[in-house]
Formats: sequence, structure tokens, C-alpha cells
Amino acid sequence: MPPIRTRNKRKPPPDGFDDIEDTLLEFENKMKDAENAPHDGKRRNEVLWPIFQISHQRSRYIYDMYLKEGISRDLYDWLLKNKYADPLLIAKWKKQGYEKLCCLKCIQTKETNFGSTCICRVPKARMTGGNAVECVNCGCHGCASSD
Ligand SMILES: [Zn+2]
Ligand SMILES: [Zn+2]
Repeated sequence: MPPIRTRNKRKPPPDGFDDIEDTLLEFENKMKDAENAPHDGKRRNEVLWPIFQISHQRSRYIYDMYLKEGISRDLYDWLLKNKYADPLLIAKWKKQGYEKLCCLKCIQTKETNFGSTCICRVPKARMTGGNAVECVNCGCHGCASSD
């Protein structure tokens, strides 16, 4: 007979979690601060920028750790499953041209005002006038792979 599973009991994280727990906690605290930051005088989008940026950094941290074998495949999968990193965003980073993509919003073409791509996806070399880029989705300053 198979063992009876305890319902709703979270499996403990795989080995190695202890080593990165502090860093993950830092991200979590930053995220909370961003979520609780006062909204006054800011546009709605701007309020969300730090949240996008922190979740980007956290996904990047976990992905990098996995790539340089700082964490095991088991732990990596566990982190994705438990939403410490965004698997959809990481899936994009594996594609050529998207290695530095800031957030998924910036490749959803509907809401943009710069042709079909978000302004932050345009390589700096192709920008005329050298204006500083800051996209409205997440405040990204340019995330084309060639930048
Ligand atoms: Zn971007
Ligand atoms: Zn953008």
C-alpha cells in the first residue's frame, strides 16, 4: 500500500536552500517595501516598476545560480514551483535576443506605443537622438541583447 500523503503539507525545500535563504529573504523584504511604498504623486505604472524590477532580479539570481551550478536542478525546480522565480520569464532568457528581457509585459505587443515592440527592446544603436529610454511598463532602461 502506498503511504498516505498528508494533505496541504509543503514538502521541505531540497538541499542547498539554506545557502540562498538569506538572499531570498532580502528580495522578499524589498518586495514588501515596494508593495507598501506610498503611492502619492506617482503614476499607476510607476508604482509597479520596483515590483517588476525586484521580481526580475530575483528570477535572474536564481537562474544564474542554477547556470553556474550554485544550486541543484532539484532546488531550481522547487524554487520555480514555489514561485521564487518566474519560469515564463526565464524561458524567454533562453532565447536568442531575449537574454536580458526585463519583464513579460514588454513583449506583449498590444499596449505599447512604439510600433510593435516596447521601447526598451529597441537596441540603443538604433535609437535616434540618444534619448534616455524608460519604458512605461516596468521602468526598464533598455534590455536589448546588444546593449
Ligand atoms: Zn525592457
Ligand atoms: Zn519595456
